[in-house]
Amino acid sequence: MQMQLVVVDKDKCRPGVCENGVCIATYSCNWKVLEQHKPYDLPVINLSRCLGCARCTSICPLGALQVVDR
Ligand code: SF4
Ligand code: SF4
Repeated sequence: MQMQLVVVDKDKCRPGVCENGVCIATYSCNWKVLEQHKPYDLPVINLSRCLGCARCTSICPLGALQVVDR
């Protein structure tokens, strides 16, 4: 089975349009793989720990989180 993970598309991600600059998608990752260091920063993904479950991708309103093959 092909393993997958999620990456942040820096061209699509706009933390400023999310409420108070907070990445709401980070709340959807139970494993704290997707994190934002402070409001208005781009979120970052710990690629070695991402399960590729895609939960976070459905939360981002701009489609900035994309599933790719590992
Ligand atoms: S990944 Fe999506 S939800 Fe998170 S800051 Fe970027 S645009 Fe907002
Ligand atoms: S794909 Fe799953 S494990 Fe990876 S960052 Fe998104 S919610 Fe977390």
